[in-house]
Amino acid sequence: MILLLFGPPGCGKGTQAAFLAERFHIPAISTGEVFRAECKAGTPLGKMACSILAKGGLVDDEIVNGIVASRIAREDCAQGFLLDGYPRTVPQAQAFSKLLRDRQLPSPVVIHLHVEDSVLVARLTARRQCSQCGHIYNRLSQPSRVEGRCDIDGAPLVSREDDAESVILDRLRAYRTLTNPILDWYGPSNIRTVDGSLTPDAVQHAIDGAVRNGHAMAFNGLGHRS
Ligand SMILES: [Zn+2]
Repeated sequence: MILLLFGPPGCGKGTQAAFLAERFHIPAISTGEVFRAECKAGTPLGKMACSILAKGGLVDDEIVNGIVASRIAREDCAQGFLLDGYPRTVPQAQAFSKLLRDRQLPSPVVIHLHVEDSVLVARLTARRQCSQCGHIYNRLSQPSRVEGRCDIDGAPLVSREDDAESVILDRLRAYRTLTNPILDWYGPSNIRTVDGSLTPDAVQHAIDGAVRNGHAMAFNGLGHRS
């Protein structure tokens, strides 16, 4: 089972990635984490990963593809895997399809968590951080016991500059500019869109159904793109 997870900042992707990993006994691979680990390891590939991180993830598709190819060849991916943060460009998606075909792996199930901008803005602007210990709260979903005060140390909660509405809207625009061409390339019939504005449990349920459905299709040989 090969899953690709796409979704805008604030859509709850991390939570759902963890759920899917547990549900289907596959590793959830965040490419950002893979790059950081490779960079730390200081291997030749690692040196290239460092340069990716330094440039905000936007370098050479070939290097990124190589790092992903070597990561998914590892033992823990034998039953499948979930990728979060890859592919980030259409050429990466094309190379990934070729890699899967070359290794005779099924085509990926592409999950797209869709949440309206207004909902994302409401969620993200509700984030508060403790000025003392850095703990993150959310006035909507994870409020502190006493309004405006940290549960742990009682220090005042503040909103972070990168949670300002204008910054969030910029991030959402950047996300769409990057992601829409990739979703277009896979094509609507190969994408399972899940409403990410529901409660985390309801989203889990919807994703679970979408994955099973998409997985059956992938195994019937449908959905390979080239
Ligand atoms: Zn605190």
